[in-house]
Amino acid sequence: MSRRPFIAGNWKLNLGPAAAAALGAELKVRLAARGDIDVAVFPTALSITAALQATEGAGISVGVQNVYVEATGAFTGENSAAMAREAGCTYALLGHSERRHVFGESDALIGQKVHASLAAGLLPMLCIGETLPEREAGQVEAVIHRQLETGLAGLSEAQVGTVTLAYEPVWAIGTGVTASPEQAQEVHAFIRSWLRERYAPWIADETRVLYGGSVKASNAAELLSQPDIDGALVGGAALSAVSFAGIVAGALA
Ligand code: PEP
Repeated sequence: MSRRPFIAGNWKLNLGPAAAAALGAELKVRLAARGDIDVAVFPTALSITAALQATEGAGISVGVQNVYVEATGAFTGENSAAMAREAGCTYALLGHSERRHVFGESDALIGQKVHASLAAGLLPMLCIGETLPEREAGQVEAVIHRQLETGLAGLSEAQVGTVTLAYEPVWAIGTGVTASPEQAQEVHAFIRSWLRERYAPWIADETRVLYGGSVKASNAAELLSQPDIDGALVGGAALSAVSFAGIVAGALA
């Protein structure tokens, strides 16, 4: 089973509308001849429209970095999945380590956000990953198991089949420390075997599992050559069209 490579850029709290439009326009040019690779970018909510306009016709999907669990109501400051969909988003990034560890989001809340996103017609990109103390305590598989079990709770097999997973070890995000290809592959293989046992072989075969954590143009090809790594979720290196395009090229290597 071959899974189409997928490179996604998380712009985090960077790039207001003008800067998002500029980067989107540059990506449109640099990624025009990228071949069979899916690309998505996740701007801050205020820059979604600018990113969509700048990348129009380039086959670059745009996603929202977070959603609230309710569609409308007295929830000042939040964005709903339905509104993100209406604004033109395809994906919702959920459970990013900064949402978990800076904003204290629980596995259960993230699971609710997965449901809210699917109900609104957004495709969830669910992030999972252990902290350094959890890795040092030998808890990697237990943490991944818990985050998957709760994050996907209550979904039908068909719904699980629409989810993209991103394994992002917390100790590798924004630190310049990348998991070695072997370390990443080991966890990706565990995720795939978990999907096979918990759901079905077709889900294990078709679900794309991206790696995230200090991916750069210089290390992308080696990470992406691992059998169970289907793409990358990129933070810092997604803020430059040159480096992001270099990572996309790494998926072809
Ligand atoms: C991220 O924000 O999801 C991420 C992986 O960041 P970085 O590539 O900067 O480590």
